[in-house]
Amino acid sequence: MRRSFPLQLSLVSLATVLVAVACTTVPDTGRRQFNPLAPNEEAKLGLTEFEKMKQSKPISRNAAYNDQVQRVGQQLARVMPVPNAQWEFVVFEDNSPNAFALPGGKVGVHTGLFQITQSDTGLAAVIGHEVAHVVARHSGERMAQAALSTGVAAVASEVLRRNSEMGTGGQVASTAAIGGAALLHVQRFSRNQELEADQLGALYMARAGYDPRESVALWKRFAAWRQTSGNVSKTPAFLSTHPVDEVRIAELERFMPRALSEYRG
Ligand SMILES: [Zn+2]
Repeated sequence: MRRSFPLQLSLVSLATVLVAVACTTVPDTGRRQFNPLAPNEEAKLGLTEFEKMKQSKPISRNAAYNDQVQRVGQQLARVMPVPNAQWEFVVFEDNSPNAFALPGGKVGVHTGLFQITQSDTGLAAVIGHEVAHVVARHSGERMAQAALSTGVAAVASEVLRRNSEMGTGGQVASTAAIGGAALLHVQRFSRNQELEADQLGALYMARAGYDPRESVALWKRFAAWRQTSGNVSKTPAFLSTHPVDEVRIAELERFMPRALSEYRG
């Protein structure tokens, strides 16, 4: 029967089905979001992707860097609510000041980042922010928004067909996983997602015993570094995906009283 529905109606049905099985709440900010992928599916994708990266990118053996990343990472891991986490913190040999986190608790830090972070607290600001994107499940949310707004008819009808045959939300998750790796390579988060990650990152810092005010200083150093690095083409991926501007810094400062209320430094 459904097959004969007009496309628009099918998409409405798809949206209804997806929202019913995939509406979740972001911890701490309380924002309701729509996310089609189950947390365990996300974690599996993150794990696979991280293994690939470890095989293709040189891993740093610098003892000071590795000690710092393990120390800060483990301290933050105690307070960051990542579902199905199998925490792993790896330093990659790469001069660009960059870091990333994948679902399942996989975190990579480039050797080039340490010139900007400068201390445990600075590093905690970056890791807290990156893991916040994972906690708030921003990549999946981005992917879902893109898929729904462009109305991928083929995927939509396939999801509906499977869903009506199987009658389970799990099928929706598996279908979403087909787009798998794409999820982990979101080119750019939305502005609101960046602000949310800044806020969550500051909370995690505070809860783990790091002064959250250092996050503001960290982003200012990043902005300054970009100014002095001159050549626009040298702007690292991190800054093109994390644009730092006055509004963003002001928003983080405005949030600071709440973060500081949880800081027992
Ligand atoms: Zn970010």
